[in-house]
Amino acid sequence: MRTKLIAGNWKMNGSLADNEQLCKAILAGMNASQTAGVAVCAPAVYLSQLQNLLSGTAIALGSQDISSHEKGAFTGELSAAMLKEFGVRYAIVGHSERRQYHGETDTSVALKAKAALAAGITPIVCVGESLAERESGKTEEVVKRQLAAVIHENGHCISEIVVAYEPVWAIGTGKTATPEMAQAVHAVLRAQLHAASSVAAERVQILYGGSMNAANAASLLSMADIDGGLIGGAALKAADFLTIIAAAN
Ligand code: PEP
Repeated sequence: MRTKLIAGNWKMNGSLADNEQLCKAILAGMNASQTAGVAVCAPAVYLSQLQNLLSGTAIALGSQDISSHEKGAFTGELSAAMLKEFGVRYAIVGHSERRQYHGETDTSVALKAKAALAAGITPIVCVGESLAERESGKTEEVVKRQLAAVIHENGHCISEIVVAYEPVWAIGTGKTATPEMAQAVHAVLRAQLHAASSVAAERVQILYGGSMNAANAASLLSMADIDGGLIGGAALKAADFLTIIAAAN
């Protein structure tokens, strides 16, 4: 049985004061007996602050990106070893905003996942189709191509990743995939993992992301292959994030 994971993606939001308030409110509202894992993926400049706020708590720390390179002349990038020093346990890789605005490709995303795994950081690998791709019946082809690149580079340790299915048309738009639509894609991803490794199919958590919120979380999380959520907007409001965490327990 896979435990669920609720991960907040704060994107480019927050401040020292807001982060402290948000973390304290989430920690105060979390149930001691909860089974779901919880993580927040924060802007890199705040990782040190959050390491201090969250160490020893039930909230794990995540980054929103990671370099595929070990070290050297890569201005602006952050290596897995650096992130590890700040207590980072998860790294989002291949978020659609990075694919769209920073030219990340299936191959570069796969190499980022590889760098994370080598350092003992769990990559949260994002896959998902655009509206045009869904409307032209290409959803399955797109998500399988994106995940195939990651499996190709990381076959031997593929059971150590987390996958997030995030239909691009549902991110930040308020349009959510129905539980049935999301489950259908999750089942495709599960089958693809199974073809690579039965252990991976059993272990890998496949999260749904895309306007998951306090109102729709329970129905999405009740689906057989939805093992948690990657939450954007609703992760910035303690009460909403806590409702989603409670729905995962
Ligand atoms: C995201 O950016 O990963 C995301 C799911 O955003 P939102 O929940 O705001 O749609």
